[in-house]
Amino acid sequence: MGATHLSRTTFDEVMAPVYAPSSIVPHKALASRIWDTQGRAYIDLGGGIAVTALGHSHPELLRALHAQADKVWHVSNGFTNEPVLRLAHKLVDATFADKVFFANSGAEANEAALKLARRAAYDRFGADKYEIISFNQSFHGRTLFTVSVGGQPKYTQGFGPLPGGIRHIPYNDIEAARRAISARTCAVMVEPVQGEGGVIPAQREFLHALRAACHQHHALLIFDEVQTGVGRCGALYAYMEYGVTPDILTSAKALGNGFPIGAMLTTADIAQHFPVGAHGSTYGGNPLGAAVAGKVVDLVNTPALFADVKRKHTRFVEGLQQIGARYSLFKEVRGMGLLIGAQMAQAFKGRAQELITLGEQNGVLALVAGPDVVRLAPSLLIPDTDIGEGLARLDAAAAALARTGTPSSVQAH
Ligand SMILES: *Cc1c(COP(=O)(O)O)cnc(C)c1O
Repeated sequence: MGATHLSRTTFDEVMAPVYAPSSIVPHKALASRIWDTQGRAYIDLGGGIAVTALGHSHPELLRALHAQADKVWHVSNGFTNEPVLRLAHKLVDATFADKVFFANSGAEANEAALKLARRAAYDRFGADKYEIISFNQSFHGRTLFTVSVGGQPKYTQGFGPLPGGIRHIPYNDIEAARRAISARTCAVMVEPVQGEGGVIPAQREFLHALRAACHQHHALLIFDEVQTGVGRCGALYAYMEYGVTPDILTSAKALGNGFPIGAMLTTADIAQHFPVGAHGSTYGGNPLGAAVAGKVVDLVNTPALFADVKRKHTRFVEGLQQIGARYSLFKEVRGMGLLIGAQMAQAFKGRAQELITLGEQNGVLALVAGPDVVRLAPSLLIPDTDIGEGLARLDAAAAALARTGTPSSVQAH
């Protein structure tokens, strides 16, 4: 391709059309700022969908990656490696878990969790204990199993026959959960805060009730912390904030700060149902990803950082509430730590993406979570000046949206 100009048009020519990316093509990034191929600068309040929790180009992560790249990139599963052993030790020391399985993504970590839950139930109670209970609007990844466990029918349409033995019930509905969880239940999979589903935090009593019902029926409680984990919610994992300990926990996104890695954490008792050969991955736990993730955990897992996440939460929520009030734009601002959602008011229903597109034109990158929710998932280290500037640019975007009145000609993507 040589000097060919790479643009959104090139994407349409050569990429499978499953994405509709922004016309902005990022070129370089540092901390909470991104520059595109035209040299325009943006404040990044999306963090690559809750991934770059330590910002872009963090010097210590670069050092960890470069140092490992100079040693060894890859070994087969016939060998272990130093970075992955160090990382597993850190995760075990910092959480409820005794054992870790590594994958390359959130979906793969969840796939491992669901397969382990099925196998553990089969080994312990026989073939009739297979049912997986999940929640409407949940999101667990795009493999056929994880997308079937996810609670958004639009993502499974046309991909059948789907894996069976999966049931969906309303989120935050304790009575529905008590009715659904039974002797047949193998596992309950839940996001402590539904991310893709609209940034909806679980109620405390709801997670406690799930924990109790799972205990009662010998079902495993799986927390999908792919989006909520690694400091995002003001603790290393959100389960710590809720005071509810799962049997299996999955982590990805921020774990590698952009280097692909996923992890499934569990107890020794449950892990024994994954004996040699029961599951695997060529790249899972590879030295490069493990080296980066080890440094991420070191940098994130400090009380000072968690306190700062909570302080910044308040700053963002107040800023969004002010913008909401100024333009009658938002019905509600909610979330946990630096995973924040602003629900569009009735008069702006379905127009979250328009606001994001106007944000880009005003030099700020943010996310949606469905058609009605603007989602922020910035770097946990975002400087206060960038919070102020990012909110000011969102305010300008909100003003532009309010001026249009009716749905504007801004192209949604
Ligand atoms: C993003 C996400 C996933 C999927 O992770 P991938 O790395 O895209 O496979 C799964 N669960 C939750 C809660 C997520 O937010």
